[in-house]
Amino acid sequence: MGNWQDNVRRVTPYTPGEQPQRKVIKLNTNENPYPPSPAAVAVLQAADGAAFRKYPDTDATELVNAISEVYGVSADRIFVGVGSDDVLGMSFLTFFASDKPVLFPDITYSFYDVWAELFRIPYRQIPLTENFRIRPEDYMTENGGVVIANPNAPTSVALPVEAIRGIIEANRDSVVIIDEAYIDFGGESVLPLIDQYDNLLVVQTFSKSRSGAGLRVGFAMGSKMLIDALKAVKFAYNSYTMSTPIIQAGAAAMRDVAYMKKTTAAVVATREAFRPRLEALGFTILPSATNFYFASHDRVPAKVIFEELKKRDIFVRYWNKPRINNHLRITVGTDAEMEALVGALTEILAAY
Ligand SMILES: *Cc1c(COP(=O)(O)O)cnc(C)c1O
Repeated sequence: MGNWQDNVRRVTPYTPGEQPQRKVIKLNTNENPYPPSPAAVAVLQAADGAAFRKYPDTDATELVNAISEVYGVSADRIFVGVGSDDVLGMSFLTFFASDKPVLFPDITYSFYDVWAELFRIPYRQIPLTENFRIRPEDYMTENGGVVIANPNAPTSVALPVEAIRGIIEANRDSVVIIDEAYIDFGGESVLPLIDQYDNLLVVQTFSKSRSGAGLRVGFAMGSKMLIDALKAVKFAYNSYTMSTPIIQAGAAAMRDVAYMKKTTAAVVATREAFRPRLEALGFTILPSATNFYFASHDRVPAKVIFEELKKRDIFVRYWNKPRINNHLRITVGTDAEMEALVGALTEILAAY
């Protein structure tokens, strides 16, 4: 055998939450419990199979225009991709070519260090405080870029806009990426700041608040300079990503702002209604500005609860990682799903 194996790029991949193929109560990947906008579903049902002989629109113009109208940001300041994972991955590749370390929290979206490793970007993971908060001052040191999920995941805690403004102000020589995957569930978006800071990239997704995890649509907004740089890298790699029905369904979902507001409000109402019930069972829960709780129990280890719930076909997320190995991330489902969760927890906790 030759030595080709020495030249294989070795990566430790991101570990997504399980997608069991049978019907379970699925509270482990922060999917929205409600279907996408009926307008988007109608577009998908009307899709023309014969039209797949043609390549799709590389600029996804229809989708970009819909985002432009809804957010009041000109089309040349919007970049779209196959989920925000695609957008974020492209952003790491595009903006983090420095020899200085990119900064992000030690407890955050676990794809960030995977991309940094994959693209050989130096990085430094900055510890959150004891109670899982981001300390803005920690990001005011020399760096090759900053990435912050706001609200953060899996902690669910949001930073106020002024705290993020401070981080951007202190980092005019690097690109600051704010990953707003959960922003529609309660945080305040820094989107208005893109007019003031040409180094701010705001990334959002259709996966959570627009109920489109399976559509795979994400987008970034920022200065034209940032967006042009992203497009150049994208078109140097793979031009044809989203298919035509997805571009059209994404545009329909984006334009249905009323539906998004209605469904996110329903999730938020469920989140707040069940918080005291979980607390009454002995859980401590961080203040959530998202569609999930980050919770630990005062008596029973998180791992035990995770496994016992799984036996009852209720899936939540657990990480056997330092600092968070006694916490669970629980997606907010429908009221009925949460009722089933509370029932199962009551049983599990009584028996332990
Ligand atoms: C869900 C999530 C994403 C990406 O999701 P996509 O489905 O790829 O859009 C990005 N960042 C955070 C923090 C997330 O939770």
